[in-house]
Amino acid sequence: MDQPATPLEDIRARIAQAARIAGRAPGSVELVAISKTHAAEAIAPLIAQGQRVFGENRVQEAEAKWPALRAENPDVRLHLVGQLQSNKAEDALALFDCIHSVDRPSLVAALGKAMDRTGRRVPCFVQVNIGAEEQKGGCAISEVPALLASAREAQIPVEGLMCVPPLGIEAAPFFALLAKIAADNGVPQLSMGMSEDFETAVMLGATHVRVGSALFGARN
Ligand SMILES: *Cc1c(COP(=O)(O)O)cnc(C)c1O
Repeated sequence: MDQPATPLEDIRARIAQAARIAGRAPGSVELVAISKTHAAEAIAPLIAQGQRVFGENRVQEAEAKWPALRAENPDVRLHLVGQLQSNKAEDALALFDCIHSVDRPSLVAALGKAMDRTGRRVPCFVQVNIGAEEQKGGCAISEVPALLASAREAQIPVEGLMCVPPLGIEAAPFFALLAKIAADNGVPQLSMGMSEDFETAVMLGATHVRVGSALFGARN
């Protein structure tokens, strides 16, 4: 008998299957393992199994956890998927290889300056408040073209759009809408899909899925 699949193997197989159904190459989808709230002891086994791309939602938490893990695994890439305060832009740049949460003009300005100062220009996503929810991060759909233009002006390499759809309702229409907005604006990548809906997101064009609890178990 084969060993039972690990959660990582299971998620990878499901991503590959969804990609195949959609006529996409399985390698065109990046699995970002969202390790927020989980300690280094929970993360190390995933690194040992070959996972190399991780995501955190807080700069401070990542600063506490990742320097030691990365010293042992220099090829690990770290993505920021949570809201970023403008005054943390330079700290974020020092640690992260990709930022998924660019969502307002003040942050574009701060990130642009931080990139100028450090000479480090990491790929970014513009986060869209796709369900027009009051308390959610992300810019309004109507603000996407202007925000993309100001990011380009600031020489921020924006490669795609990111969203977190409203909880508790079918995510597919929101993923499809994000894909349309990205196509309309000429940005190629889509960061969408989490533990509950990443296969749907892959079928609708996700290039990056952000999976936490399905890999690590529930968060406290
Ligand atoms: C926590 C988080 C995720 C992962 O959520 P799961 O449901 O645990 O997979 C993905 N994206 C963002 C922005 C998050 O904050």
